[in-house]
Amino acid sequence: MENLTHWIDGAPVAGTSDRFADVYNPATGEVQGRLPLATAAELNDAVARAAEAQKQWGATNPQRRARVMMKFGQLLNENMDRLAEVISREHGKTLPDARGDVQRGLEVVEVCMGAPHFLKGEFTDDGGPGIDLYSMRQPLGVVAGITPFNFPAMIPLWKMAPALVAGNAMILKPSERTPGCALMLAELIKEAGLPDGCLQVVNGDKEVVDAILDNDIVQAVGFVGSTPIAQYIYGRAASNGKRAQCFGGAKNHMIVMPDADLDKAADALVGAGYGAAGERCMAISVAVPVGRETADALTEKLASRVENLKIGPYTAGEDVDFGPLITGAARDRVRGLIDRGVEEGARLVVDGRDFTMQGYEGGFFIGPSLFDDVTPEMEIYRQEIFGPVLCQVRAGSYDEALKIVMENEYGNGTAIYTADGDTARDFAHSVNVGMVGINFPIPVPLSYHSFGGWKKSAFGDLNQYGPDAFRFYTRTKTVTERWFSGIKEGGEFNFKAMD
Ligand code: NAD
Repeated sequence: MENLTHWIDGAPVAGTSDRFADVYNPATGEVQGRLPLATAAELNDAVARAAEAQKQWGATNPQRRARVMMKFGQLLNENMDRLAEVISREHGKTLPDARGDVQRGLEVVEVCMGAPHFLKGEFTDDGGPGIDLYSMRQPLGVVAGITPFNFPAMIPLWKMAPALVAGNAMILKPSERTPGCALMLAELIKEAGLPDGCLQVVNGDKEVVDAILDNDIVQAVGFVGSTPIAQYIYGRAASNGKRAQCFGGAKNHMIVMPDADLDKAADALVGAGYGAAGERCMAISVAVPVGRETADALTEKLASRVENLKIGPYTAGEDVDFGPLITGAARDRVRGLIDRGVEEGARLVVDGRDFTMQGYEGGFFIGPSLFDDVTPEMEIYRQEIFGPVLCQVRAGSYDEALKIVMENEYGNGTAIYTADGDTARDFAHSVNVGMVGINFPIPVPLSYHSFGGWKKSAFGDLNQYGPDAFRFYTRTKTVTERWFSGIKEGGEFNFKAMD
C-alpha cells in the first residue's frame, strides 16, 4: 500500500492529522493508497508559506514565468505515460483516455506559454490634455483550486497553469479519490523551475475545503465538481469576500433530427455517452430524436453498438471502451437509478446492471445501459447519473426537442445532429447552454477559447482557461497620470471642459 502525502514548499510532507482516506484501484476494488486528510491548521500554515513565496514569484517578469510553463509542457509530454498510468490506476479509465486527460491539460499549459500577451494592460494616450491612462493586470496573491475525481490531470492543470503564470501562488486541493496525479504535477512543475511554496498540494476533504473558504489570505477559489458542492462553495467563498468560479454537474442532450446521418449520430452518442463510463461532465446522457421513425431507427442502431461495447480494466489493452466506476458506492447508486427508471416506466433496451468482469469480481464494474421512452419527470432524467447510461427522450418536433433542452436545469454542453444549416444555426443561437456542438458530440472548446456551462452547471461569471482565466486570476488597476512639464503653455487642465 502506498502512503500518499501532501506537497508543501517543494517537497512531499506526510501531514500531522490522524485522519486518512482510502484510495482504491477501482478495477480490483482493493485499497492501494492511504491519503492524509489535512487539518485546518495544516492548511493555514501552507497558505501562509505560499503567501511568502508569492511575493517574489509575483514580482518575476511574465516572460520568465512563461518559460516555466514551456519547460513544464515539455516535462508533461515526456511523462505522459507515467501520468496516464497513475490516473488509470486510481480512476479506472482506459490508458488512451488517461493520456487524453493529460493532453487536454497540456494544451492549456501551452496557451500559458504565451501568457505575457494576455497579461498586458491597456493604454489611452492623451485622454485629456497631457493626461494618459493605463491599466495593469496584477496577480491576486494566493488562490485555491478544488478539483473533482474524474479528470485528475486536466482540471488541476486548467486551474494551476493560468493562476501560476499570472503570478499567483496556488493551493491545490485535488479529489481525495484520485490524488496521485496532482502530486506528480507538483513534482514536475518544480523541476520546470517553479519556486518552492508557489504550488502547495493540500489533500483532504470538507474540513480542508472549509478552511480554504474561511482563510483570509486566499483571494480566489476555482472549483469543479458536483452542483450542490459548487453552489455551497460559491456562496461561502463569496460571503467571505473571495472571487469564486464554481463549475458543477451536467445533463447534456443531443438532438437528432430526421435528416441527420443516423450512423454518425449513433457512433457519436455511444462515444460521448459511454466513454470513461459516463463519468464526464461533458458526456451526452440524453438523446432526443425527433420523430417516431428517427427514434425507432436510432434505438436499433444504438442497441447493437451498446451491446458490443468492451468493458475491462485499463491493463487489458487499448481496445477496451471503458473501465469501472470510481467506487462501489458510485456503482450501487447507478444500479439503483436504473432500477428506479424501470419502476417509473422507462423501457430498458440494454441492461448493464448484472455485468461482472471475469477475474475482477471485486472491481466496481457495471455494464452499459440504454433507456428509451424516458420522460422529463423521471428520476433518471432529472438526476446526473454519472455512469454508462444513456436515456432517450422522444420529441415530436424540433421545437419540442429544443424546449426539452432549454427546460433542463443544467446547461453545460449540448449537441445537434442535422444536415440542415438553418436548424443548426437556430439551435446554436437559441439554446441556453454554454457549449454547443453541431454534428459534434462533445464540444469542449479548444484551450485558447474557454470552457463554462450555464444555469446550474456554473456559478460565477467567468469561464475556465483561455482569456477568461487571466481575467479571473488577476485584478485590474487603472492609473490616470499627468506630468505638469508636459502640459503646453496655457493648457492647464480644465475640469469643466470634461463635463
Ligand atoms: P464532488 O462535488 O463530490 O467533489 C469535488 C471536490 O469537492 C473534491 O475535491 C471534494 O473533496 C470536494 N468536496 C466534496 N464534498 C464536499 C463538501 N461537502 N464540502 C466541501 N468540499 C467537498 O465531485 P466529484 O464526484 O469529485 O466529481 C464529479 C462531479 O463533478 C460531477 O457532478 C461532474 O459533472 C462534475 N464535473 C464538472 C465539470 C465542469 O467543468 N462543469 C468538470 C468535471 C466534473
